[in-house]
Amino acid sequence: MTRTDLKGMTLTELEEFFARWGKERYRARQLFRWIYQKHADDFAAMTDLSKELRGILASTCRLSGFPAERFETSADGTEKYLFRLEDGETVESVLIPDDARRTLCISSQVGCPLLCGFCATGASGFRRNMTSAEIVQQACYAAKRLSERGERLSNVVFMGMGEPLMNVPEVSRTIGILLSQFGFGFSGKRVTVSTAGIVPEMLALALAHPVSFAVSINAARDDLRSLLMPVNRKYPLKDVVAAMRRIPLQSGRKVTAEYVLLAGVNDSPEDALSLSRLFRGGRIKVNLIPYNAHEASPYRAPEAEVVGRFRDVLIAGGVQTITRERRGADIRAACGQLRGSPRGKKS
Ligand code: SAH
Repeated sequence: MTRTDLKGMTLTELEEFFARWGKERYRARQLFRWIYQKHADDFAAMTDLSKELRGILASTCRLSGFPAERFETSADGTEKYLFRLEDGETVESVLIPDDARRTLCISSQVGCPLLCGFCATGASGFRRNMTSAEIVQQACYAAKRLSERGERLSNVVFMGMGEPLMNVPEVSRTIGILLSQFGFGFSGKRVTVSTAGIVPEMLALALAHPVSFAVSINAARDDLRSLLMPVNRKYPLKDVVAAMRRIPLQSGRKVTAEYVLLAGVNDSPEDALSLSRLFRGGRIKVNLIPYNAHEASPYRAPEAEVVGRFRDVLIAGGVQTITRERRGADIRAACGQLRGSPRGKKS
């Protein structure tokens, strides 16, 4: 008999599961707390469940999970984990410490189908979607690891490998667990979904969950954006920006536009001016990401002055702009460098 994996089920799914067995609904909440707040990985530890229930769970169900097979630590404190999934595929996550914040950057697909020219993940192709159990396990692993040193996971960003909005059912279940008060208990402000701009799914997910959104823009003109991001042919800039303006937001919040700066390609003052016109008056802020190098792409990062000038033009155009600090580049953990291939020391 195959055991039912309870990891990755939403609270509602778990309640229905217990209801089918004639068990009380609150059992699901207890189990949720054990799995996602107390980091339990077997049923025997769940001492507020009856011995009988623990016995039934142990013989018919399971809690999937995997430790990091390898990890690397950057000189700046960033940690990169390599996870081997049950079918042998591998993905990476990155933990970024920043003052009091502990942000985990998680993967939602093995590889990526989008083939953006500047990103290492797409270069190795697309293998498959990840399940919610696999996606949430990255957060379970990091949260447990942090708790062992007296720290807490504070933010989760879907900016690792893959396009989360091409795996909406599993990403949506994962978000349910991250936001549930009996699960990780994150506010929507602390969970960010980053997308290359899959327009219909952006709006649908925004209506389903009050999470934050980041959209990879990377060019202010369709011809250039289509060259860098083939997905632009399906969802052109005008539609992506319109969707960014329609995402429901809590007051004072903004949608983030991510813009990878590639020297001589999209980093001129004219590009900055076009970008500021695109976002003027919108509830959109810009996150500039100087290109992080990897073997699979021919691009270069602009000089610091060019980045500064680009930022100044945006700010002068009335657009809130910050430059993302490069983190973890020495261990290939920076934006766009994840490819899921084993490297580094065994954990
Ligand atoms: N598919 C999603 C999430 C993964 S990419 C998306 O497109 O948003 C996360 C961010 O890293 C994106 O904004 C992407 O534009 C950026 N990125 C990709 N490759 C990069 C590179 N080589 N250097 C800097 N940023 C990169």
